[in-house]
Amino acid sequence: MSEEKKIPYKIYLSEDEIPKQWYNVRSDMKNKPAPLLNPGTLKPMGFEDLRPVFCDELIKQELDDTTPYVDIPQEVQDFYKMYRPSPLVRAYCLEKALGTPAKIYYKFEGNNTSGSHKLNSAIVQAYYAKKQGLKGVTTETGAGQWGTALSMASAYLGIDCKVYMVKVSYEQKPFRREVMRTYGASVTPSPSMETEIGKKINAEHLGTTGSLGCAISEAVEVATKTEGYRYVLGSVLNQVLLHQTVIGLEAKAALDKYGVTPDIIIGCAGGGSNLGGLISPFMGEKLRGEKDYRIIAVEPASCPSFTRGKFAYDFCDTGMVCPLAKMYTLGSNFIPSANHAGGLRYHGMSPILSQLYHDGYLEAVTAEQTAVFEAAQRFARVEGILPAPESSHAIKVAIDEALKCKETGEEKTILFGLTGTGYFDMVAYQKFNDGDMTDYIPTDEELEKSFATLPKVEGI
Ligand SMILES: *Cc1c(COP(=O)(O)O)cnc(C)c1O
Repeated sequence: MSEEKKIPYKIYLSEDEIPKQWYNVRSDMKNKPAPLLNPGTLKPMGFEDLRPVFCDELIKQELDDTTPYVDIPQEVQDFYKMYRPSPLVRAYCLEKALGTPAKIYYKFEGNNTSGSHKLNSAIVQAYYAKKQGLKGVTTETGAGQWGTALSMASAYLGIDCKVYMVKVSYEQKPFRREVMRTYGASVTPSPSMETEIGKKINAEHLGTTGSLGCAISEAVEVATKTEGYRYVLGSVLNQVLLHQTVIGLEAKAALDKYGVTPDIIIGCAGGGSNLGGLISPFMGEKLRGEKDYRIIAVEPASCPSFTRGKFAYDFCDTGMVCPLAKMYTLGSNFIPSANHAGGLRYHGMSPILSQLYHDGYLEAVTAEQTAVFEAAQRFARVEGILPAPESSHAIKVAIDEALKCKETGEEKTILFGLTGTGYFDMVAYQKFNDGDMTDYIPTDEELEKSFATLPKVEGI
């Protein structure tokens, strides 16, 4: 007990304790994530095949299933020092409000202008683009956090940044858009009339408000057709999970200082990058048989890739120009209902996490958005931070688990990822506050329709 008292509200590491290497969880996986396939030939894609789309160094990281630790370039380490280490917070106030014997910790990644963990990978990708002598990068953004993060990183390094922003967000989140423009990025609503794929999607889906899968296709098209540009992606890919392990490594180092071992680790899952980054060092111990943890992915009931998706090769984008990835997917045509306000709208899931889930190393649950916003409000009122709707999926399940402990009297230690702040999500909060928020769960028929579009990949 006396040991317990010493744990501060916030455990900060010193600047010197920011990780100098990322941890590659694939090195400890017996079943490696399946390789990316060429959408035309269905052959695994190697370094040369990926070069027109991605930066060289990032392709090496993408394909590297064996190196356990990868050095973080000094320039990236220096950038990390502007906003890292991020605090690991003991949620004393939330514990008290819930009356739970559980001990709750969260790793808060919202302490930078982009408001989320995405900056951890944006700076790396922009860095390698610049190092390769490129002029700029293209990308998509949904809610806007990734686009903002990449704009910040590109501005810092002095390279150009073209963002294709899902149209509904472009219209609903004008302030996000202006943040990106302030950092010098060009922002185009997607589907646009500037690309072949954008024109096609606009013609086929009249009045569409866009989707991430569609914005990705546009960004890839522009990258491959414009000299000196490459495409970068803010989630899903192996390289992004690698960069995000800075979250888990810091969290583990902070907990280790106080001899704390979590029983349950919880993260929200869109494309899987924050969850993968948070759990990687813990998962490594689990894979090596050193320790065991309960690991829970939380996804929206309106976009349930893990819990209702298929583990199959699928396109990463609507335009079917990207490599095929083997992942839990709802089908690349799947577009979550327009009333879904809580982010995490991507149809697929990180191939690494998909393989781990398939092999039984992590659990997944869904949360409905009204319950997610209730959890967000509860959290904001006691812990002070206004959470992003995405992050609030993790809060919801952390609260559920803490309340279970209240019933059983168990003093479990819960760690969850608080990925960001929700200041740009006030339209969604307004809906919730006005009582206008609804929950939409796709029907089996809708999902079947979408599964029907999965590519037929035989023999794998
Ligand atoms: C993008 C984002 C997510 C979801 O993306 P993952 O790749 O699944 O981590 C979660 N929270 C916030 C705040 C985000 O911006």
